[in-house]
Amino acid sequence: MSFGATRLNNLPPYLFAEIDRKRDELLAQGHDVISLGIGDPDMPTFDHIVARMKDAIDDPANHRYPSYAGAPRYRQACAEFMQCRFGVTLDANSEVLALIGSKEGIANLFPAFVDPGHYTLIPGVGYPVYSGGGIINDSLEHWMPMNEENGWLADFEATPPAILAKAQMMILSYPNNPTSAIAPVEYFDRAIAFAREHGLLLVHDNAYADITFDGYVAPSILERPGARECCIELFSTSKSYNMTGWRAAFAAGNAEAIKQLGIVKSNIDSGIFTAVQDAAIEAFLGPQDDVERMKAIYQERRDAVLQTLEAMGIKAVASKGTIFIWAQVPEGHTSAEYAEKVLMEAHVIIAPGTAYGPDGEGYFRISLATPTERLLEALDRMSALGSA
Ligand SMILES: *Cc1c(COP(=O)(O)O)cnc(C)c1O
Repeated sequence: MSFGATRLNNLPPYLFAEIDRKRDELLAQGHDVISLGIGDPDMPTFDHIVARMKDAIDDPANHRYPSYAGAPRYRQACAEFMQCRFGVTLDANSEVLALIGSKEGIANLFPAFVDPGHYTLIPGVGYPVYSGGGIINDSLEHWMPMNEENGWLADFEATPPAILAKAQMMILSYPNNPTSAIAPVEYFDRAIAFAREHGLLLVHDNAYADITFDGYVAPSILERPGARECCIELFSTSKSYNMTGWRAAFAAGNAEAIKQLGIVKSNIDSGIFTAVQDAAIEAFLGPQDDVERMKAIYQERRDAVLQTLEAMGIKAVASKGTIFIWAQVPEGHTSAEYAEKVLMEAHVIIAPGTAYGPDGEGYFRISLATPTERLLEALDRMSALGSA
């Protein structure tokens, strides 16, 4: 007997499989391997949030099934956060939906908004669920070109008309993983006009809204005129509050889209543990000074990485946000070859750009979510390699 739907054969091979195998070999030989491959904050969830969870877990009312859409107090807190942080006024009841992490929300966008055989416009490099979610939904992907020349701003205007005619959704994300690029508001305005002209739902994944540097303040796409007609935006506690393990996020925006996504979700999951929602309320509405402290640490690490890469003669995007540095593979290697070389010779794991989409060839990604000492040690080892 053999099991497995044929659609699973369409998923790309796991690019880190070979890297993981080589890492295990090195570890077995007693080598110290440092991973700069993973986008998971190394710093703990802030104390006041953990303290709120400890209280919330003792409340028996929190032990029962959660509300599908999110507790009214959770959705209210999300709306208040959007008001305070971005000046965006939302109806907590119809324009906010709790998500069990934004990854869950992204995967469920496909059954909610894209028919089998129809297209989603996705960034040429991006979070892997943007493509995987469509494959599992039997729908199609169109990779919007992203490159250094266009500032890593996905070129939706280059979409061929035949694809546009069968497209139902477009996904963007700035500050951007993996490129660390930010988008000017004019770009969002053009994207909104394009989505309205072509009848697309525009989804903005704003996972790094609050991880920004040098005084840059990232906007919400919902601040822009016309966004309410065609957009939903995803926010997460994961990166802003070091809460990747807790699974708390929300979608906000167009009420009709929020309703459709809620219909899919109510057939699949039963919401976020209510005690976690209480902790997330504390994250959104409590003191934000820990976020500032954390950003300063990431910014120091960013500076150290950019300095080292420059000394190595490696060109990198001058990041204004996210926990990543996106850099050019030295001449003469593919992304995969360079990642393997760095692993075998420096015992450091970097992510090959091709793990994020076709436009990632020729690039690699370094994660800043590594304790500073370990990051500096990894950089020392990489610079000993030189750029050759
Ligand atoms: C980390 C990340 C997410 C996932 O967030 P969760 O809320 O933890 O699921 C979503 N989008 C991007 C671009 C990310 O880097």
